[in-house]
Amino acid sequence: MHYDYLIVGAGLYGAVFARVATDAGKRVLVIDKRDHIAGNIYTENVEGINVHKYGAHIFHTNNRKVWDYLNSFSEFNRYTNSPVANYKGEIYSLPFNMYTFNKMWGVITPDEAASKIEEQKKSAGITEPHNLEEQAISLVGKDIYEKLVKGYTEKQWGRPCSELPSFIIKRLPVRLTYDNNYFNALYQGIPMGGYTAMVEKMLDGIDIRLGVDYLENREELYDIADKIVYTGPIDGYYDYKFGPLEYRSVRFETEILDIPNFQGNAVVNYTDIETPWTRIIEHKFFEFGTGPKTVISKEYSSAWKIGDDPYYPVNDSTNSELYEKYKKLADCEDKVIFGGRLGQYKYYDMDAVVAEALNMAERELR
Ligand SMILES: Cc1cc2nc3c(=O)[nH]c(=O)nc-3n(C[C@H](O)[C@H](O)[C@H](O)COP(=O)(O)OP(=O)(O)OC[C@H]3O[C@@H](n4cnc5c(N)ncnc54)[C@H](O)[C@@H]3O)c2cc1C
Repeated sequence: MHYDYLIVGAGLYGAVFARVATDAGKRVLVIDKRDHIAGNIYTENVEGINVHKYGAHIFHTNNRKVWDYLNSFSEFNRYTNSPVANYKGEIYSLPFNMYTFNKMWGVITPDEAASKIEEQKKSAGITEPHNLEEQAISLVGKDIYEKLVKGYTEKQWGRPCSELPSFIIKRLPVRLTYDNNYFNALYQGIPMGGYTAMVEKMLDGIDIRLGVDYLENREELYDIADKIVYTGPIDGYYDYKFGPLEYRSVRFETEILDIPNFQGNAVVNYTDIETPWTRIIEHKFFEFGTGPKTVISKEYSSAWKIGDDPYYPVNDSTNSELYEKYKKLADCEDKVIFGGRLGQYKYYDMDAVVAEALNMAERELR
């Protein structure tokens, strides 16, 4: 069988492109090296709970077109992300808002909170922030930085905040309202029945081969289709000829517990440096689960090496320059399109990935 498109990667980017191309009458084959579809948004049913295997995924967008598109495959619930921070047993609301400021300083009004932040910023003597530590203090003051930003961020990036660039938290969400909703987006929620069921519907009727690594079967697969949409790592595609692009990785420790409620919230961040995990996810609360058991995942941020799952691209200047070298090669390909978070070495939220894939497919199929 010869195909119009071979899609490498059954994640969100690949699934959207495959659906649009199929609906436009193209013959499409989707492959993935993993033994399941849905890429990093894969959810696995454990004890009746949809477990987010590759980290918690909360959909949020202001893009009506993307929202309507995904809703044509799955209904979304009304889940609102309101994470909680646990600093050595003290509980704070996230993102930083009036509930956080009230707990930290006892302030009641937005004016009092703003004055407190300003006062702490002044006493730290920061005019122009040179690193993440100074940037954070100038945005939220020293107390919040010390208790809620420092430890968490250092665990996440594996480096002291004073050595991290300030741009990482350019827009630390800070609200002078009593509002615990993490995202400002117009539309948010979790697909009812899990992300895997949604992607299954997107790929309905399309040929899929799982457990197939494109790079290990290049000779056979290159000619199987007129065009290839590659959503794997761009540096891997070129055998790391300029060197590997850097990522941060995450390790998950998942446990089934014989209790109905472990932490009372889907997401709890551990913001001290001593606790080795960054956060604990209690999956049932993404879908308001009420069953007798619960499933939790502890997330440990870790360094990445070739062979590990790549999670967060490290978009500093060294890696950006390296990516540009690979991109130059990619731009010369006339048969291969590079897409998605790994193909474009970019942290994309899900809505951005869907928008990108829709745009690319529309351009391609015009
Ligand atoms: C920990 C974490 C949490 C996140 N949380 C959120 C969130 O709450 N909200 C949000 O909007 N976004 C979130 N994101 C972003 C979201 O995961 C991405 O936007 C989305 O999954 C990207 O889809 P993709 O198709 O580009 O990549 P992927 O889902 O990674 O799909 C790529 C696929 O290609 C396959 N592949 C790679 N190489 C090969 C090869 N050689 N041969 C065959 N197959 C191959 C891989 O196995 C994979 O299945 C999060 C990301 C991370 C890392």
